[in-house]
Amino acid sequence: MYDVVVVGSGGGALTGAALAAKAGLSTVVLEKTPLIGGTSAYSGGACWLPGSQVQQRAGIPDSTESARTYLAAILEDPDRARIDAFLAHAPELVAELEADPDLEFEWLPFPEYYDAPGRVPFGRSIQPVSIKRGDLPPAVADIVRPPVERDRLGAGGRNTLTGGQSLIARLATVLLREGGTLLTEHAVSALVTDRGRVVGVEATYRSDPVTVHARRGVLLAAGGFEGSMTMRQEHDVPGDVAWTMAPRGTNAGEPIRAAEMLGAATDWSALGWFCPGLEHPDGSGSFTLGFRGGLMVDAHGRRYANECLPYDRFGREMAKSPDRVPSWFVFDDREGGRLPAIAMPEGDPADHLAAGTWVRADTLPELATAMGVPQDALVETVERFNGYAATGVDEEFGRGADEYDTFFAGGEGPNKALTPVDRPPYYAARFVLSDLGTKGGLVTDAAGRVLRTDGTPIEGLYASSNSTASVFGSVYPGPGAPLGSAMVFASLAVRDLLEGDS
Ligand SMILES: Cc1cc2nc3c(=O)[nH]c(=O)nc-3n(C[C@H](O)[C@H](O)[C@H](O)COP(=O)(O)OP(=O)(O)OC[C@H]3O[C@@H](n4cnc5c(N)ncnc54)[C@H](O)[C@@H]3O)c2cc1C
Repeated sequence: MYDVVVVGSGGGALTGAALAAKAGLSTVVLEKTPLIGGTSAYSGGACWLPGSQVQQRAGIPDSTESARTYLAAILEDPDRARIDAFLAHAPELVAELEADPDLEFEWLPFPEYYDAPGRVPFGRSIQPVSIKRGDLPPAVADIVRPPVERDRLGAGGRNTLTGGQSLIARLATVLLREGGTLLTEHAVSALVTDRGRVVGVEATYRSDPVTVHARRGVLLAAGGFEGSMTMRQEHDVPGDVAWTMAPRGTNAGEPIRAAEMLGAATDWSALGWFCPGLEHPDGSGSFTLGFRGGLMVDAHGRRYANECLPYDRFGREMAKSPDRVPSWFVFDDREGGRLPAIAMPEGDPADHLAAGTWVRADTLPELATAMGVPQDALVETVERFNGYAATGVDEEFGRGADEYDTFFAGGEGPNKALTPVDRPPYYAARFVLSDLGTKGGLVTDAAGRVLRTDGTPIEGLYASSNSTASVFGSVYPGPGAPLGSAMVFASLAVRDLLEGDS
């Protein structure tokens, strides 16, 4: 029997667990896989937490009010109570976390995703400071999920944990230090109730059923349903379980379904935190951002969007037509046959070429044939693109006009984000629609309580992270929005748990 049962071990879950343990509650984390951290461990660890003391230390002008202005300009039909709670609590949470000797953050310069009033140049994101494996308790160091490029190969983590790995490792360290418990290989499938109140969970540990009781409450923070093809199809989320970035065998939505069984309200949104996904020979996709050169075309050999758009916005452009999945990303030999972008992971170009996920040719017409797109269209598209590179103006999609577009690009022409594609051999890499998780899920209130369809809270049940319908709705405001919002609502859930029994 514990005070608090936390389901999942991503950034939201462990924030809630660490804070609950620090507040003196006996806390257990139940994680389905043998490793902790989920997609959060793969992440860059950016946390969009506006108005924090970390930003102030870095001398970055920001305030809760400017963030409110920014969100008001970009969100569609926001839940004001949740947004207000997010904005009010973000700075408090950062202060509370940084008061702990094991948690330390730094400002991360990374532009926000919309050119809108209230945007802060180079953003409002913070990230955990990297940490050496040797400085972690072995009980943590041994079970943090490695970075994606190593995890997918079955390799272990590095000696320095950065980004999301550092976040997970640091929060887990606090949890254990405060007497909390981490149980891996515990897959939660149902909730236990007593007269309408949630008092625990049912899980499976190595095929044995286990019941874990919670005196005060259960926090579901176990990812979305990106890993379930059935649920994706049921709720019209484009993409594929093979293309999602969630670690294999993780987020299949069982905790969301368990809450639904109790009458929890859901808002499915039919969206993910999308991104273009470099297709790999094994059929998987990898999150790709920061295109420095090249251009993306559809099945007709035509561009359809600014390739330098923030990844979620580009992903949503991809999702608009079946002719765009797969797309082909066309580039030249300027970088010696490597992709002029950041793909996590990129893989070996030779393996891609052997498998046909990449093709190569000395001329554009030959490349078009290898891609299976019309030759004339591809040649015309590339010539037109090269014309834009010469003038510095992308007349169709405005590539290079926004600070985000040029953040990663280092071109030498009149527009840093427009580099001609004119150095053979030419390459084309196949892209699918990937995601960093789904955005729909349980409906919660400003205190992180799970609501019924009539708007009343289910006693004892809280949710955060991608298990909930995103507080940002259809929008991805800036780097760190998934983790930042997950952490804030997990923390508010713990605050409510504490208040409820005081
Ligand atoms: C390469 C990459 C970089 C990214 N960078 C950033 C970034 O910098 N900032 C940012 O905000 N976002 C980033 N993201 C997105 C972000 O990582 C995810 O959207 C977010 O971490 C999801 O958090 P979560 O807690 O919902 O899920 P996860 O972090 O995936 O954690 C869910 C955990 O719950 C467990 N679980 C699932 N079902 C059960 C069950 N039934 N019982 C028990 N446990 C269960 C899973 O095994 C998993 O470990 C990035 C993603 C990728 C792939």
